[in-house]
Amino acid sequence: MRVHVIGCSGSFAGPTGAASSYLIEHEDADGRLWRVLMDLGSGAFGPLQQVIDPADLDAVIISHLHPDHYLDLTGLEVFWAYHSRTDLGKLPIHAPAPLPDRISGVLGRAGHVPDGVKTAPFDYHVLADGLRFTIGPLEIATHAVLHPVEAYGFRITAEGVSFAYSGDTDSCQALDELAAGADLFLCEAGYIEGRDDHFTGVHLTGRRAGEVAARAGVGRLALTHIPAWTDPAIPLAEAREVHTGPITMVRPMDILDVSRSPDRHAARNAQ
Ligand SMILES: [Zn+2]
Ligand SMILES: [Zn+2]
Repeated sequence: MRVHVIGCSGSFAGPTGAASSYLIEHEDADGRLWRVLMDLGSGAFGPLQQVIDPADLDAVIISHLHPDHYLDLTGLEVFWAYHSRTDLGKLPIHAPAPLPDRISGVLGRAGHVPDGVKTAPFDYHVLADGLRFTIGPLEIATHAVLHPVEAYGFRITAEGVSFAYSGDTDSCQALDELAAGADLFLCEAGYIEGRDDHFTGVHLTGRRAGEVAARAGVGRLALTHIPAWTDPAIPLAEAREVHTGPITMVRPMDILDVSRSPDRHAARNAQ
């Protein structure tokens, strides 16, 4: 499994990159490559087209309905609805229930069908806490996390490797559960200690992300969702104070390989 970082800027698109969006790729036993897009925040539809032809997407999963995680679906909808190819079918979109109305609201239209076409281009699937579903060889589990709106983290597994994504959240039990023993844990660290202590129930700091990774025993921690006004070195240093395992700070266009963590499995086998 691979995770392409399409955008990772926290809360809004930054001067050097788009808001949250990640492309997950995994090849099944027959050699068919599956592509699932996880979030498509402000500004992310442009760089996505540098990585793949969006017509090759198999599905989209959306963690929550803040604009920095879903707003560029408006561009993907135009792309899918008016594309010259006639064999695209409907693109499955797994998201919180209000998404179709939210997109129509942004576009100022009644109903979910774009102007001039006969059918809606997206096939919506409503997310809920504790859901499990598959997209090709990828098994996806949802965990409701702590954020001001309905929000999910995802745990994605395939052929024995596991990838966990925090979505946007503050510390909570569900986050520890979804990260437990993951080979790769992609975790937001939108706040920094001290400066942002007066905000609660919204985002993690680097320190709190590191504490989750340590408790969960993850193979590798990748920090993301750093807003433009924050020096990424600060949350990275915070995380390193509390977690001794491998930690990286993601950048746009990074490719993260999700593979079995030998350390984690050795430690588990020794227990
Ligand atoms: Zn966000
Ligand atoms: Zn959010």
